[in-house]
Amino acid sequence: SIILGIESSCDDTSAAIIKDNKILSNIAANQQIHNEYGGVVPELASRAHQQNIIPVVEKAFSKANIQQNEICAIGFTRGPGLLGSLLVGTSFAKSLAMSLDVPLIEVNHLQAHILAHFIEDANPTPPTFPFLCLTVSGGHTMIVLVKDYFDMEIIGKTIDDAAGEAFDKIGKIFDLDYPAGPIVDRLAKDGNPDAFKFNKPKMEAYDYSFSGIKTSVLYFIQKEVRKDPDFIKENLNDLCASVQKSIIEILMDKLEKASVELNVKDVAIAGGVSANSGLRKAMEYNRKKLGWNIFIPKFEYTTDNAAMIAMVAKLKYERGEFTDIRTTATAKYDL
Ligand code: ATP
Ligand code: FE
Repeated sequence: SIILGIESSCDDTSAAIIKDNKILSNIAANQQIHNEYGGVVPELASRAHQQNIIPVVEKAFSKANIQQNEICAIGFTRGPGLLGSLLVGTSFAKSLAMSLDVPLIEVNHLQAHILAHFIEDANPTPPTFPFLCLTVSGGHTMIVLVKDYFDMEIIGKTIDDAAGEAFDKIGKIFDLDYPAGPIVDRLAKDGNPDAFKFNKPKMEAYDYSFSGIKTSVLYFIQKEVRKDPDFIKENLNDLCASVQKSIIEILMDKLEKASVELNVKDVAIAGGVSANSGLRKAMEYNRKKLGWNIFIPKFEYTTDNAAMIAMVAKLKYERGEFTDIRTTATAKYDL
């Protein structure tokens, strides 16, 4: 089977072609326009998707060397995400499906981040059910017990900010561009992770909270800048390394607890923050220390991409799960 996947839930317009489990192309147009605003501006995102969608889809076909009439279905992100952004991908997928007379397959963006692990070149061997997946992105932070492809249980989640949001908001305090996550990661490499200590939250079971660390960084910086206006510049690497260490420790503590208590040793990470080098190192450390089988996505499958959408569409295609052409996008969409 050859399937086209379309992703437009936030600020990346992406299209991918999957043949069996193999990704033939995975094209993305990232929207630089939001950088100067320090966050994604929904109106601008929607407009940029409209400009990007046709060239991105055309490029996905040409890179894959596939003709439009060769595809047997179209998968698209129905939600969750920004409604105006989702609408562009959804409408485009619907009209292309109609004109090519192929079935439409809706995809849950969060499921897709997790099921990206089943893309052929994502892992040497895919995880086995049940496995744990720490899903960490700009909008979500949760530990998911994945019992089967479409049988997932959220066993813990953040009660406030997502981990990616924490990286981005704390990066903003340090005057870094949006999204700050990758910049913090890069700067942390030349810093001392033990230079500064930030309090960790005490949360029930497998839940998370990241607003506390954001506030304590803010107050700490305000206090230090009053004494030395150049404090951030002089300590930027150490600040980034220390913040990154704290966020990763918070994430890993609960993941380890879940692995031990549920006795699940196949442990995956997914979502934009799974690109973080410190988190990847922590996973590798636990592979040795706790005997985990770890699953870390390739960079191109971490942040928003259509390859993961195409992958889920392919799984649903095999099950004969198609979506009515009258479907609409949905900003909220449970796992
Ligand atoms: P969701 O998937 O929850 O709808 P989203 O699509 O906005 O949210 P992703 O694209 O999956 O999120 O991830 C983007 C987030 O990942 C941003 O917050 C970004 O800062 C963060 N991020 C990306 N790379 C890194 C990195 N190397 N270290 C830390 N954070 C990172
Ligand atoms: Fe995402």
